[in-house]
Parts: sequence; C-alpha cells; structure tokens
Amino acid sequence: MLRVGLTGGIGSGKSTIARLLAGNGAVVIDADKLAREVLEPGTDGLKEVVKAFGEDVLNGDGTLNRAALAGKAFASEEARQTLNGITHPRIGALTGQRMAEAPEDAIVVHDIPLLVERDMAAAYHLVIVVYADAETRLGRLVSSRGMDRQDAENRIAAQATDEQRRAVADVWLDNSGEVPDVTGLWDRLVGFEKNVRTQSYASGSPIVVPYDGRWPAQARRVARRISLAAGGRYVEHIGSTAVPGLAAKDVLDFQLAVEDMETADSLRDTLGQAGFPYVGPYVDTPRGEGDWSKRLHAGADPGRRVNLHLRVEGAANWRWAVDFRDWLRHDAAAREEYAELKLKLSQRFAADSGAFAYGEAKEPWMETAVARVEAYRGGQES
Ligand code: ADP
Repeated sequence: MLRVGLTGGIGSGKSTIARLLAGNGAVVIDADKLAREVLEPGTDGLKEVVKAFGEDVLNGDGTLNRAALAGKAFASEEARQTLNGITHPRIGALTGQRMAEAPEDAIVVHDIPLLVERDMAAAYHLVIVVYADAETRLGRLVSSRGMDRQDAENRIAAQATDEQRRAVADVWLDNSGEVPDVTGLWDRLVGFEKNVRTQSYASGSPIVVPYDGRWPAQARRVARRISLAAGGRYVEHIGSTAVPGLAAKDVLDFQLAVEDMETADSLRDTLGQAGFPYVGPYVDTPRGEGDWSKRLHAGADPGRRVNLHLRVEGAANWRWAVDFRDWLRHDAAAREEYAELKLKLSQRFAADSGAFAYGEAKEPWMETAVARVEAYRGGQES
C-alpha cells in the first residue's frame, strides 16, 4: 500500500484533484468527511462537543449546526484547541481503520486540509500540495460554494502559509488556472506502490547533472521520513548532492546513524515499508583504519532516487562520509576538480551504464583526497 498525503489551502482544489486520482483507481480518504462522521447524531464525539460548547451548537433536529460551532470554535485559540481535542483523536482512529480496510495494493490518497498544521508530512510516502493563489481561492469559495467572504478569509488566515506547504511538497500542483493533468503523477504513484509492495527500489543509471538548487529541500523531506521510520534516529544528507554548487548524479544520499549493525538489521522492514527497501550488506572502500561495513537501502519512488546508508555512528565510514562532504563544501578548488572529473567520467561511462566502472575510475582521485580530507579534519579539530 502506498500512503499519499494530499493537501492545500481551502478552495485550492484538493477535492478536485482527489476525484481525478480516484478516477484512476486511488482509494481516497477524505478527512473532512471523516470529521463530519465523528460528529454525527448519536456519536460520543457530538456529545462531547455539546458538553464543551453548549446546546446551541445543535439544530432543532439534534444534528450539528456547523455555522454555530464554527462561530464559537474559531473565536479563540483556546476554543479551537478544545474542539480539536475532541475531534482529532476520533478522526485519527477512523482514518487508521479506513487505511487498514484498503486492499494490499491500494494507492491511498488522504485528502487532508490540515496536513501541515498537524505536522504529518513524514508519515506519508509522498505528499502532494495543490496550490492556488489566495485571491483565486477566495473567489472560488465565495462564488462556487456560496461561502461568506469574511468567513472564507478567516479560514484562509487560520491555515498554514503557502511557504509552509511548499516545504512539505514532494509534488506541487498549480491549480490556479486549468486543472493540471495528473497522468504523469499517477504513473509515478503506480510505480512507487508496486516497488513498496514488492520491496524493489527505483533503478536506472542517472548521469551527472549540474547542481540542482532543489536538492536541499528535497533532502530535508526525505530525511524526516527516514528518521521517523527509524524511531527518530539521526539522518544526514551526505554525498555530492549535499555540496552546494557541485555537479552530481540526481540521487540523494543519506546516512542513518545506528548503534550497531544488529540495530541496522532490525530496522530493515520498517524502512522498507516506509519506501526505502533493503539492497544489501556492503563494505565501503576503506579510506583508513577501522570498520567500513554498512547496510544499504534505496528509495522506491521512481520520481526521486535515494540511497540510504546505515552506518555505525562514529565508525570510520560514518566519519568519512561527513568529513568528505564538509571538505568539499569548504574547499572550492577541490569542488571544481571533483566536478570536472565526475562530468568527464560520467560522459565516458554513460554508454556502458556502469556505476561500478565509474566508481572505479574515480578511485585515483579519491585516494589523493584522503590526505586532503585528513588535513581539513585536523584543521577543524585544532
Ligand atoms: P478544496 O477541496 O481544496 O477546498 P475544491 O476542489 O472543492 O477545493 O475546489 C473549490 C472550488 O473550486 C470547487 O467549486 C471547484 O469546482 C472549483 N475548482 C477547482 N479547481 C478549479 C480550477 N482549476 N478552475 C476553476 N475552478 C476550480
């Protein structure tokens, strides 16, 4: 099963996109709908709400008067929290239930307006943000939904900002004008789901490309996901994509710090289910004394290549990954040499698809780098 979070400001077009994805076969869980379900007549959720906000949030027939409740609950931060305290746990339980009921190969799209506000991005395999500028959203809410303009403005103001949403968006759909085509996105989700279900990682031979300024933000999102799956352990963005300005293959490298290799092995299934299937046990090319063994995982998302190295915190290979990166960040001349070498080798080995041959050919330069990284490390310590 693939868990996809779908969010965006009110009126951005989330439900519209959710319908398109459902048309392709996604199982959509609509958070707003569940929010209504937990306050239906006869539920203990509704009883709690009446206890907290008074009988006048009810209509004559005993159903919830949403406008009356909204008036009270949006009046103060405290009132909002009281309402959330009643509804959120119940909505969460119902969401879990719906996910558990979905077929094993389902692409579950969770349409959830408050994904950012509730800091839930890392719990999904992928987050899609639907965007429309605030003026367009207001217009839609007032004209097509008949919402009062002031009420619509208040709701927009109470939600996360566009910038906060951008930070969690693995996929950003601009729905300010025409409804975007989701065919390519759907293909990605299908491939991603299959890879997670079969525990396969995305493959292919990426070539070296110029530094991409989007890498740091992408890396922050992936790192949070890995860390959450690994019980909050420390995850660092390493490798060439972690060096601003450096040309690199479009594969984000991460290092997950583990206490020992037994711990690494115990994390295998959870990381796999989170979208980072196991590749195998490896030994890094030694750059000195010590332990160079690791466990390698790789990303299942066909749209975002990831290598995940599980190394023992403080071990020689763990240290090297950090120092090599930091040296390149620090030393512009070294960065240029390395970029030039990589571009040259990438072209030479593009045809034979050999990541191995490419790695081998980098070795002479890497060997000369050992002393320079050591000198850099020495300088940092003194
Ligand atoms: P949300 O679920 O994010 O609140 P909806 O999908 O319900 O937003 O869209 C809000 C309103 O705007 C709906 O009436 C919808 O039909 C309309 N709408 C959505 N996308 C577009 C678009 N690209 N152009 C014009 N109207 C749109």
